[in-house]
Amino acid sequence: MASKLDLAAPDLARIVAEVAAEVQPHRGEGHVADYIPALARVDGKRFGLAVITVDGETAEAGDAWMPFSIQSISKVFTLTLALQRLGDELWKRVGREPSGSRFNSIVQLEAEHGIPRNPFINAGAIVVTDALMEGRPPMEVVTDIRDNLRRFADNATIDVDKEVASSEAATGFRNYSLANFMRGFDNLKSPVEDTLTAYFHQCSLRITCRQLARAGLFLANGGKDPISGEQIISPEHARRICAVMMTCGHYDASGEFAFQVGLPGKSGVGGGILAVVPGKAAIGVWSPGLNESGTSQVGALALEKLAAKTGWSVF
Ligand code: GLU
Repeated sequence: MASKLDLAAPDLARIVAEVAAEVQPHRGEGHVADYIPALARVDGKRFGLAVITVDGETAEAGDAWMPFSIQSISKVFTLTLALQRLGDELWKRVGREPSGSRFNSIVQLEAEHGIPRNPFINAGAIVVTDALMEGRPPMEVVTDIRDNLRRFADNATIDVDKEVASSEAATGFRNYSLANFMRGFDNLKSPVEDTLTAYFHQCSLRITCRQLARAGLFLANGGKDPISGEQIISPEHARRICAVMMTCGHYDASGEFAFQVGLPGKSGVGGGILAVVPGKAAIGVWSPGLNESGTSQVGALALEKLAAKTGWSVF
C-alpha cells in the first residue's frame, strides 16, 4: 500500500532515533512541576517519544512506554466528548480565542462575564467537564472519561492516579475560585465540588507516549480512527479541535509553539505533549522539565526537530 506520508517507515524510524539522540544532551532542562509531591518526584531526565502514522506505522524512542500524568492534555479528549455530545451548542459556554494569559488567570474571566476564552485554559476546561456532567455523580463522569480515553488509545490499562487526584483537589484553590466565579455567572450547571472532582480526576489520568499518540490519531485522520475504522467525531469537529490546539494549546506560549513547531499540539504540566500532523500522524512526547509557560522544554525541542526533519509543519 502506498504511504500517505511521503516518508518510508525506515526513514521515520531513523528520524525518531536522530531526534532522541539530538535531545539527549538537553535532558533534565526546565523545571519539573512541584506544586504537588507526586509530580515533584518524577525524574526530570526522562524522555519519551512515540509517533504513529495514519498507515499504522509506529516509531518510538526513550521512555515511550513509561506512564506519566496527562494533566491538561486530557482537555483535548474531554473537548472531543463534549463536541460529540453537545455539538456547536458548546461554543455558547466557551470561546475559541487564544487567551494570551496564564493557564489559571481569573482577570479575563471577569471582564468576559464568566465565558472562558477557550477550552484549554483551566476555566474553559472546567466548563467543558461541566458540560459532560449531565446530572451524573462525579465518579461516574470520571469513569466515562477514562473509558473513552481507553477506547481512543485502544488500551484498557489507562487509569487515574488517586494520589495525584487528591493532591490536585487539596491544592486547587485557583480552580475552585474559577469554578465558583463561573457558577456566579451561571456558566457552571453542576455543583462546583462535583465538576471539580471530575476535572481533577481527568487531569490525574496516567498515560504513556505510545498510548497518547494512539489516542490522538483520530484527530490526524478527519475524526476517524484509521486503525479501528470508527468515526469518533465528525471531520468538522476534528478540524476545529486541531485549530484550537494550534492557537490555544500552550497557554500564553501558543504563538511560540506554532512558530517553532508548526503543528496543533496540547501540553500538560506532567511534561507530556500531544501533537497532530493532519492527514499523516500523531505524536506523543514526554519530558518532565517545563519551560516558563508550563510546556515541556525538551518535549517541545524534540517536536521542533521532528517537524523540521519530516517536513511535517502545516506551514
Ligand atoms: N491540573 C492542573 C490544573 O488544573 C493542570 C494544569 C496543566 O497541565 O496545565 O491546575
